[in-house]
Amino acid sequence: MAPGFDYLIVGAGFAGSVLAERLASVRNRRVLIIDRRAHLGGNAFDAYDEHGVLVHRYGPHIFHTNSERVFAYLSRFTAWRPYQHRVRTLVDGRLLPFPINLDTINELYGLSLSSLELEQFFAERAEAREVVATAEDAVVTKVGRELFEKFFRGYTRKQWGREPSELDASVTARVPVRLNRDDRYFTDTYQGVPKEGYTRLFERLLAHPNIKVMLQTDFCEVKGLIPYKHLVYTGPIDSFFGFSLGRLPYRSLRFHQEVLDTPEQGLVQPVATINTPNDTPYTRATEMRQLTGQKHHKSVVIFEEPQAEGDPYYPIPCPDNQALYEAYRQLARERKDVTFAGRLASYRYYNMDQVVAQALKLADTLPDV
Ligand code: FAD
Ligand code: UDP
Repeated sequence: MAPGFDYLIVGAGFAGSVLAERLASVRNRRVLIIDRRAHLGGNAFDAYDEHGVLVHRYGPHIFHTNSERVFAYLSRFTAWRPYQHRVRTLVDGRLLPFPINLDTINELYGLSLSSLELEQFFAERAEAREVVATAEDAVVTKVGRELFEKFFRGYTRKQWGREPSELDASVTARVPVRLNRDDRYFTDTYQGVPKEGYTRLFERLLAHPNIKVMLQTDFCEVKGLIPYKHLVYTGPIDSFFGFSLGRLPYRSLRFHQEVLDTPEQGLVQPVATINTPNDTPYTRATEMRQLTGQKHHKSVVIFEEPQAEGDPYYPIPCPDNQALYEAYRQLARERKDVTFAGRLASYRYYNMDQVVAQALKLADTLPDV
């Protein structure tokens, strides 16, 4: 057997790991997957903390998708804990259901509107726009300015470090507005968390004998040292090109944790996540055990505080960043020896299922070697 690997994959998150599994098992190719971090899973990594509580190290991750293909594929590597995410948001001193629904408005204003009346209520407040271009437009055209100010403006400024009017409409359009009383955060067909955690799912994805894993290894350290025929890169696209066209901004987070004593089945928060759009430096607080269903005498709550510096977590969707990304994309097109995949390399605000869908598609079209 010739020395070296058929594919070198940079990044062991969903993008890299799904591609590794497909190339190893369907194409019977030898794959080396590396990650600069000391663990698999990318931002979906989870682990038991010093108390034995399962924690999502890079913030709470709820799997949700309408894609049967994606769900069926991942289900080969994990069983699921069915889980429907619920969020409340602290507005005007009250914990209200979020996304905004019939109960949110009735509780906020002390009303007893029906769904039909709520539709009218929104219609009277909605602002007209010829084009819904920005994250502000996406909200004010549905529910008007007052609700935008209360529920969205502060949160969005904190999260992205920019005004909603500077961000693409897609940022807030992710969050629905409902006329009914459905208080679930997502309505996708398939929703849950891996029964034994995300990390176990990644261990199974990468267990194929054709796959070798190297952690704590930055691509820069091994570039030129390890022979391979084709490269898959799932890190930030600007870093691959040595930031030659300038830096693409990525938003980061600082995670604070509170560990509280509870009865085995007791919970600290009324729902898994409490959003605080106004007043606090953090955007939301999530109680891990509500997601995982773990029974434990301690409960861990994770607070997310957005910041500019730190690990890249979120591409920032707005026109100037998109223009810079397109310039990098042009450089990427000229590199036939490299395939770019995943949230950071595509500079797209992808959920996990979208990253898996992209990787499954690429696995069919990637150059054979
Ligand atoms: P990543 O998971 O970022 O993996 C990329 C990997 O590449 C990293 O491990 C990194 O260390 C490695 N890498 C980068 N550069 C190099 C290099 N030079 N050398 C070696 N390794 C390198 N999605 C959902 O569907 N549901 C949720 O509830 C959800 N919640 C989220 C909450 C937070 C706080 C965040 C930040 C994201 C959330 N997401 C959620 C999105 C989800 O995390 C991503 O869609 C998914 O993890 C992206 O996978 P990826 O493989 O593209 O990237
Ligand atoms: N958002 C908001 N208020 C909220 C929740 C969300 O303004 O209470 C906006 C904010 O801009 C956020 C975006 O909607 O970044 C998408 O929210 P989501 O909960 O999908 O964010 P993610 O889980 O991806 O961080």
